[in-house]
Amino acid sequence: MKDLRQTLRKPESTEKPSTSAVSLNETTQVGGNQLALIAGPCAVESLDQVMEVAIHAKQLNIPCLRGGAFKPRTSPYSFQGMGLEGLEHLDQVRKTTGMAVISEVMSVEQMNMAQPYLDCFQIGARNMQNFELLKELGKQKKPVILKRGLSSTVEEFLYSAEYIMAEGNPNVILCERGIRSFDNMTRNVLDLGAVALLKELTHLPVLVDPSHATGKRSLVIPAARAGVAIGADGILVEAHPIPEKSVSDAAQALSLDDLTQLMKELEPVANAIGKSFFENQAASKAATTVTELETVSPRRLSAV
Ligand code: PEP
Ligand code: MN
Repeated sequence: MKDLRQTLRKPESTEKPSTSAVSLNETTQVGGNQLALIAGPCAVESLDQVMEVAIHAKQLNIPCLRGGAFKPRTSPYSFQGMGLEGLEHLDQVRKTTGMAVISEVMSVEQMNMAQPYLDCFQIGARNMQNFELLKELGKQKKPVILKRGLSSTVEEFLYSAEYIMAEGNPNVILCERGIRSFDNMTRNVLDLGAVALLKELTHLPVLVDPSHATGKRSLVIPAARAGVAIGADGILVEAHPIPEKSVSDAAQALSLDDLTQLMKELEPVANAIGKSFFENQAASKAATTVTELETVSPRRLSAV
C-alpha cells in the first residue's frame, strides 16, 4: 500500500507554491494565493432562480455558481433535484454569464450525464467514501470538490482525495462542511482546526462551507469570516432569491442582500491576512448588463 498522502503532501521544495491552484475553466481557479467564492442555491429549481442568483453573484465578482441538479436527500420522498433539466439551466448560466458552474453527482452514471454541462463536479458528504465513483472521477480530468463526510476523520478524508488523485486526476479541492456532534443546536460543527490542519498537511486548496456547517442563516456570515481568517482558499455558500421558499436547506440559505453583506464582511478579513478575491476576468467581459441578460431572465431582473 502506498503511504498516506503520497500525492497530497506538501512539496518539500520551497520553489513550488504551498497551495496548488486548481483551474475550473480557462479563466477561473481555486487555490493559489487568492480567495475563491462559490455561491448558489442548494437545488436548481428553475432557470430564473439560478440566473437571478448568478447575475447578483457576478455583480459581486463571485466567479462560480453552484446549484444541485441531483440532490442527496435524507428522505426518498423529498425533492430529488431537476436532473438533466437542472444541468441545462446551469449550462445556460455558464454560457450567459461566463461563470464556472458546479454541481453534485452521486453516481458514475450522473457523472457521465453531467460532464458536458459542468466545469467542476461536487462530491457530497454522503458520497465521500463512494470509492467506485472516486476512482471514475480520477480517470477524467474535470476538477472535483470533495466534501468531508458527515463523521469522517481527516485521515479518511485525505484517503478519499488520494483515491481520485491516484487514478491520475490531480484537480481535487477539499471542502470542510461541518461534522456531526452531540449538539443539535447547530446542524453540524464547523471543524476549523481541520481546515488549518489540511492546509498544513496538503497542497490541495481547501474550501469552507459555512452553510451546511451551521445550518442557520444568521450563523453563515460569521462562520465564513472565521473560515477565511483560518486560511481557507475559498468559501462555498448557499444563496437563494427567496430563501424561505428554497425547496431544500431553506433555513441556511442567504438572501441576495445577505450575499452582498457577506462579501462586504469578508473583505477586511481577507485583507488582514494578505489575500484578495479571485476575479474571473472573462466573466466580467461576458454579458453583464441588465439588458444583455434580460432576454434570459426577464421576470425578476428589476430586483437585482
Ligand atoms: C449540498 O452542498 O447541497 C449538500 C448536500 O452538501 P453536503 O454533501 O455537504 O451535505
Ligand atoms: Mn444544501
